[in-house]
Amino acid sequence: MNILVINCGSSSLKYQLIDMDGEELLAIGLVERIGIDGSRVKHELTGEKEVIIEEPMEDHRKALKLVLDALVDPNHGAIESMDEIGAVGHRVVHGGEKFSESVIIDDEVMEAIRDCVGLAPLHNPPNIMGIEACRELMPEVPMVAVFDTAFHQTIPMANYMYPLPYELYEKYGIRKYGFHGTSHKYVALRAAEMVNRDIENLNIVTCHLGNGASVCAVQGGKSIETSMGFTPLEGLAMGTRSGDLDPAVIPFIMEKENLTFDEVSEILNKKSGVLGVSGVSSDFRDLEEAAANGNERAQLALDLFCNRVKKYIGAYAALMCHIDVLVFTAGIGENSITIREQICEGLDCIDIRLDKDLNQVRGKEAIITKDLTATQILVIPTNEELMIARDTLHLVEG
Ligand code: ADP
Repeated sequence: MNILVINCGSSSLKYQLIDMDGEELLAIGLVERIGIDGSRVKHELTGEKEVIIEEPMEDHRKALKLVLDALVDPNHGAIESMDEIGAVGHRVVHGGEKFSESVIIDDEVMEAIRDCVGLAPLHNPPNIMGIEACRELMPEVPMVAVFDTAFHQTIPMANYMYPLPYELYEKYGIRKYGFHGTSHKYVALRAAEMVNRDIENLNIVTCHLGNGASVCAVQGGKSIETSMGFTPLEGLAMGTRSGDLDPAVIPFIMEKENLTFDEVSEILNKKSGVLGVSGVSSDFRDLEEAAANGNERAQLALDLFCNRVKKYIGAYAALMCHIDVLVFTAGIGENSITIREQICEGLDCIDIRLDKDLNQVRGKEAIITKDLTATQILVIPTNEELMIARDTLHLVEG
């Protein structure tokens, strides 16, 4: 069965068409600038050159229509007709406490996803627009929603509650939800396969280090703790997000700098993290280059980033007693040799010993452990789309 995976942002739409018989990627693409001048589809059939389709797109429905046209196009299409799409899997950022796994979309599910908008006002509305456009254009095709938060719904209450007045949890659902769940789940499952062990018997720490970054403790295949929280702002220092911070800093800077809530939110989300500290860039390639050329603040940002990841790994080792497998994934985790080395440096005390020679890999699966009896350290390129397609297939076949 061919499954179309859709990931809708406010002005973008990413898609992949996957043949699930051999889990083979048939086509991949990105629609940019939906509702803005200069909108276009970048479409790529596996093994062929990218095609760019420039056309005005007033909304997500039009964008999706152009994607479907591209997929069945006689020149650069992957299939002959829309009938060859067996199901659609949608990425949905926030499933609140309602969704602990992926679900087949019906009217009731749509209502529940709408109920989560308050928890993810920037992310859920475009996800909903994508689903609605698909349901309109492909009314007969079954659709599945896969939530970034679902994998973390197994986190025990003592780990997800904030030490705030309990009524705030009851009234507004203020608690840790966690994000990147689809990625943490994918790499944890893959890690168990790579070390040839049953995931039920493994304590895994997965480090998803991209522009947004989070760490997750996976015990017996279940998430028991993660670094992102009520929103994706908590936890590690990220490209432009602050991560953990004394909450008292917020009213303090609001008063000193005369800031509104929106302005302080903009600082914490868009102007902080390694960008804020370095003043150079949010991109780790730029930071590594600047640091190598003697830029001290770029080096400081990298040191701060690595120390935080290290602290979370230590905390999760304490929570689970022992880490059997440590996984690095996403842009930085998959590609940065120096960041992986710096994070693991000095962690012998918890049995983490990286092999510097084996660590010379970028963007491919590898075991980079020095001592095979110690914690296994793995590099695994994440594949959230494949995870979404697998869940979709499982649900529509079941
Ligand atoms: P997101 O999906 O959250 O936007 P990605 O997972 O694509 O982020 O990761 C983006 C990050 O990965 C950027 O900071 C980028 O600098 C970093 N990155 C990509 N390739 C490399 C590399 N070769 N060395 C160091 N960092 C890299």
